[in-house]
Amino acid sequence: MITQVLHCPYCQGVNIVKNGKTPQGKQRYQCREQVCEGRTFILNYAYQGQSRKVKQQIVDMALNGSGIRDTARVLHISTSTVIKELKKQTQLQPVNLLMLKQSDCESIVVNICVAKLDLMTIGMESKKR
Ligand SMILES: [Zn+2]
Repeated sequence: MITQVLHCPYCQGVNIVKNGKTPQGKQRYQCREQVCEGRTFILNYAYQGQSRKVKQQIVDMALNGSGIRDTARVLHISTSTVIKELKKQTQLQPVNLLMLKQSDCESIVVNICVAKLDLMTIGMESKKR
C-alpha cells in the first residue's frame, strides 16, 4: 500500500479531506486549514489554466513584463484566462499610474518625432525583384 501525502496548493497544509467528486468524476478535496477557510481543489485539472500553479505563473510573468499573448502562448492557455486572472489580482496596479503619482504632470515635455516613409517607392522596388 502506498500512502500519498497531499498538500493544499494554496497554503501547503496537510489537513485535507475528500469533498465529493466533480461532474467529470475527479476527486475533489477540501482544505481544513484556518487560512484557507474550506477552499476546495482537485489534483489534475483538465484545463491547466484552472490550476493554482499556472495562475501564479500568470501573475509572475505579468510582473516580469510579459504581455497577455506572450503569457498565453508560453503557458498553453487562452488569452481570456490570462486577462481574467490578472483582473482578479487587486494588488497589481498599472505601471503608468505609479509613474504619474511620482512625477509632476505639468512639467513633462513630450517630443513627437515623425518619420516620413515613402511607401510607394518601397512597393515599386519590391515588385521589380
Ligand atoms: Zn489550504
